[in-house]
Amino acid sequence: MAETAGMTDTKRATGVLASSGHPEAADRRDAGEASADGAWDLAEIRAQFPVLSREVNGHPLAYLDNAASSQQPLRVLNRVERYLRQQHANVHRGVHQLSAEATAAYEGARHAVASHAGTTDPAEIVFTRGTTEAVNLVASSWGDAFIGAGDEIVLTKMEHHSNLVPWQLLAGRTGCVLRFVDVTPGGRLDLDDFDRLLGKRTRLVACTHVSNSLGTVNPVREIVDRAHAAGALTLIDGAQAAPHMLTDVAKTGCDFYAFSSHKMCGPTGVGALWARRELLEEMPPYQGGGEMISDVKLEGSSWARVPHKFEAGTPNISGVVGFGEAARFLADLGSEAIASHEDALKCAALDRLGEIEGLRLYGPREERTAVFSFTYGDIHPHDLSTILDQRGIAIRAGHHCNQPLMDHYGLSATARASFYFYNSPREIDVLCDGLALAAEVFGGLA
Ligand code: PLP
Repeated sequence: MAETAGMTDTKRATGVLASSGHPEAADRRDAGEASADGAWDLAEIRAQFPVLSREVNGHPLAYLDNAASSQQPLRVLNRVERYLRQQHANVHRGVHQLSAEATAAYEGARHAVASHAGTTDPAEIVFTRGTTEAVNLVASSWGDAFIGAGDEIVLTKMEHHSNLVPWQLLAGRTGCVLRFVDVTPGGRLDLDDFDRLLGKRTRLVACTHVSNSLGTVNPVREIVDRAHAAGALTLIDGAQAAPHMLTDVAKTGCDFYAFSSHKMCGPTGVGALWARRELLEEMPPYQGGGEMISDVKLEGSSWARVPHKFEAGTPNISGVVGFGEAARFLADLGSEAIASHEDALKCAALDRLGEIEGLRLYGPREERTAVFSFTYGDIHPHDLSTILDQRGIAIRAGHHCNQPLMDHYGLSATARASFYFYNSPREIDVLCDGLALAAEVFGGLA
């Protein structure tokens, strides 16, 4: 597998400053725009996302902050509205019509999300508030029950704080030891280091599928196999993978997989934990309350069957309904079509960003998604982001909840442009022109 340097500091002349200047607003509208791969009706797809046609600061929005949160199509918005207007009631406990409809919508969403996750058993899907809560659920429930002092958990230096801090808290409670797989200069996991860290005391390997800062797609199947061979379970943080790689989740062979709705065209505040059913069966409840019980006496209680054992209290019903519709929407688009368009965008963006002198791109060239973290000369990423925002371009700047990874590269922050299937090749031009403007505003690059 080819690997580029972690920091791609291009030496070629940019040409960006001399490029055709800022496009006219009309040029930046995407109606009728051809796809990078030709087969994808991008204008039709974009028309399904109302927010993509708005202007920001007098410019058509170029939304390139999809790794933080993606936009929602009309189909999801309409489904949530229909639920709220016509079907709202509490789930599971009513015999009246509305409750039956709300329950059918909620459990129907579980089927859709299960199908997205590549499992035929919807009971293996636990709805949570998102990836963060899914990891916390495993750390609290499985961790408190099965991890003791001296046990080891192997993480990596590229984990989002959501897949780090819950394990630090577990270590504080139990005395278990956290070990961290190194990241190569090229932005990949050091698998030799991984083998060195796996030992008799390793109980769990928890690792991200796709890095939210570097875009690196980790070889999770290989990691899972090596972890299993060492007798450890595996948790994969799929927050950045599930939006792009449909039905791949079970194929990883892992034991736990966490993902969020709002990064895959669904509402915020909802996500899922997929886990092998037998693990869910043997894990104690995460939270106590209504919905998660079978029988309650003053002296003690018994638990509902999975997955309800882990869904205490009234859930985020409208969020789950929207999540389910988002999963159906992605399935209808088709994973191959999504991947093909995103791949074309990724290659084009890598080429264009690679031509900009003074721009340092982090992460590998191959086996990556269209998430681009970069620094540009000595312009602070927040200043970059502010300048781009004035042109209607939404990117992110900061540590991206990856502080240990930033420390690894000796950085406090990067700028990050992240693309999704509804982005256009033209938005790559818009981004590059915005960067040229930033270079002008900051009077040349160091
Ligand atoms: N893991 C990764 C890799 C992420 O990118 C994110 C969000 O940015 C999370 C976990 C946390 O997701 P959420 O905030 O939806 O719980």
